[in-house]
Amino acid sequence: MKIIMLGAPGAGKGTQAKLIAEKYNIPHISTGDIFRANIKNGTELGKKAKTYMDKGELVPDELVVDLVVDRVAKDDAKNGYVLDGFPRTIPQAEALDAALAKINDKVDYAIDVDVPDENIINRMSGRRACVACGGTYHIVNVPPKKEGICDACGGELILRDDDKPETVKKRLDVYHEQTQPLIDYYTEKGILKTVDGTVDMNDVFAAIVGILG
Ligand SMILES: [Zn+2]
Repeated sequence: MKIIMLGAPGAGKGTQAKLIAEKYNIPHISTGDIFRANIKNGTELGKKAKTYMDKGELVPDELVVDLVVDRVAKDDAKNGYVLDGFPRTIPQAEALDAALAKINDKVDYAIDVDVPDENIINRMSGRRACVACGGTYHIVNVPPKKEGICDACGGELILRDDDKPETVKKRLDVYHEQTQPLIDYYTEKGILKTVDGTVDMNDVFAAIVGILG
C-alpha cells in the first residue's frame, strides 16, 4: 500500500508514519532522509540537489520528485511505502502522480492527521529544553522533577524560540496556505482519510489501522 501522510508540523504525523511502516513492513520515506542518502552516496541526483542546498536555495520540485520516484522504485518499496513530508504542494503532488502513472503506479491513501492549531500551539508552548545538555521536557507530559531544572544535569530549562506560540502560529499559517489545497486535491481523488490527531497516539494509530485494514 502506498501512503502519503498529511498533517501540520507538531500534529504527530512522523510518529504515525513510523508506526505504519513497522506494522505493515514497508519503508518510511522522508524527503530529508532521501536527500541525505543521495548526497552521502554521491549519486547524480544527490550532486544536483547539493548544488542548490549549498547555495541555500530550495531544491526545485522536479528534482525533489525525481529523488522521491527514484526512492520508491527501490526493491524494499515494491509492496508499498509511507511518504512523510512529501508532497507539500499541488505542483509536487501532480508531478508525483504523473511520474507514478508512468510506471503504472498510484497513491492508495492520503492520511490527514488532523489537529486544530490551538492544540498544536498549546502542545508546543509546554515544551522545555535544557540550555546545558539539550534534554527535552514537557510541563504536562514529561515534567522535570523540579520545575525549570533539568533532571539530568541541573541546567536551566527554557521555552525555545521555535516552540513559542507566535513562531508556531507562523509555521502553521504557512502549512495551511501550502498544504490545505492538497487536502482538496486528495479528497477529489477519493483517497483522503482524516483521523483525529488530538487523541492519544495509540488511539490515532488504531484509527489508521482501521482504515488501512
Ligand atoms: Zn540538562
